Amino acid sequence: MQSKKRVVSILGATGSIGQSTLDVIARHPERYEVFAISGASQCDKLVEIAAQFHPKFIVVLTEQNAQLVRQDLVLRQIKAEVLVGEAALIEIAVASEVDTVMAAIVGAAGMPATLAAAKAGKRVLLANKETLVLAGKLFMDAITQSGAELLPIDSEHNAIYQSLPIEFRELPYQSSFAAAGIEKLLLTASGGPFRTRALSDLSSITPEEAIKHPNWSMGRKISVDSASLMNKGLEVIEAHWLFNAPLDAIEVVVHPQSVIHSMVQYRDGSVIAQLGSPDMRTPIAYGLAYPERIEAGVKPLDLFSIARLDFEAPDMLRFPCLGLAYNAIRQGGAAPAVLNAANEIAVESFLAKKIAFTQIPELIESTLNRHAGLSDESLESLLQADQAARKTAIATVAAWS
Ligand code: NAD
Ligand code: MG
Repeated sequence: MQSKKRVVSILGATGSIGQSTLDVIARHPERYEVFAISGASQCDKLVEIAAQFHPKFIVVLTEQNAQLVRQDLVLRQIKAEVLVGEAALIEIAVASEVDTVMAAIVGAAGMPATLAAAKAGKRVLLANKETLVLAGKLFMDAITQSGAELLPIDSEHNAIYQSLPIEFRELPYQSSFAAAGIEKLLLTASGGPFRTRALSDLSSITPEEAIKHPNWSMGRKISVDSASLMNKGLEVIEAHWLFNAPLDAIEVVVHPQSVIHSMVQYRDGSVIAQLGSPDMRTPIAYGLAYPERIEAGVKPLDLFSIARLDFEAPDMLRFPCLGLAYNAIRQGGAAPAVLNAANEIAVESFLAKKIAFTQIPELIESTLNRHAGLSDESLESLLQADQAARKTAIATVAAWS
């Protein structure tokens, strides 16, 4: 049992991962203290969290929201300081009191504070996969140089982490797949809600249908990504960076029950998997307590009621986003940053009913074609690529409608 409390900042505390993180923390008040929370909207929720967890800081994005939160805090006699903006997100990620940062903001907006936590040598609980897609090399370099502890929260990557040899998973950049006897990573995918939908129906899918995931309850953006299989594409890139994995050694396996959360195949024929109920509190508890195991409130796996596990190859024609992601990371440079930015605009536009579901990959592909060969040398060049891609994608949507 650890003696000192872990002091945690939660970036994106009002979201799906943020809420699951708070749920796990609430089960272990003797182990964890919440130092700071952030949220882009949902001021009421932020105040509720503050009432229960007593953070020292609350970060919001606008002065207007700051006023709303401050008023409520006074009314309810809750003591917390409200800070505003991206610089404040970085402050709560690097504060000397903090040892653990949950990176659970959605999208590229989460990257600066997540990268700052890595540079500051924190234990980084990484849910924000877009950080690795946008700036994978810079982020992994920052982790290695600062000696930060990186624990993947994405369920597949957490499963792979649990299935890798300890020396390899903690320092993947000091070894190689060959030296560790690893043949490939088997990244499982549920296939999303439209795995068996007639191809001719895909263009009329509504946002309401797309955000209803069969197995997982998640934020809107990742739910649409799961439906288009872009989520799996982003996860291939995420696995490539996290585990120093050659792209040819990452295989996507569709497994509709979402019971096996991913696997590692070894040279001797062994395949090691992590199984569990589809509940993000498992990887979150793993990351918070590593290397210990703590209670997470997760329903135990009942293999008898599951009865069978199915596997199939992904349908790359039905879901072009997966192929686009493989191409972008193979192309290298800033292509993954462009892919990510175009996808964020595509998902927003689809949710706003400006484009059809099937136009998501079309928009990403046309944006990638317009921004080939950009450099990933520095953070500035990646951010420029991100901004240029967003501008192009927005203009394309406007031209289409
Ligand atoms: P969500 O939409 O439920 O929550 C997102 C959080 O980010 C909220 O707190 C929101 O206020 C904040 N936010 C949104 N825009 C912001 C901005 N511009 N600046 C600062 N903060 C902003 O999303 P989620 O489902 O919790 O996902 C969070 C991250 O975790 C994503 O990167 C997602 O891919 C990843 N992830 C989520 C799950 C899941 O089960 N939900 C699983 C694996 C990985
Ligand atoms: Mg995942």
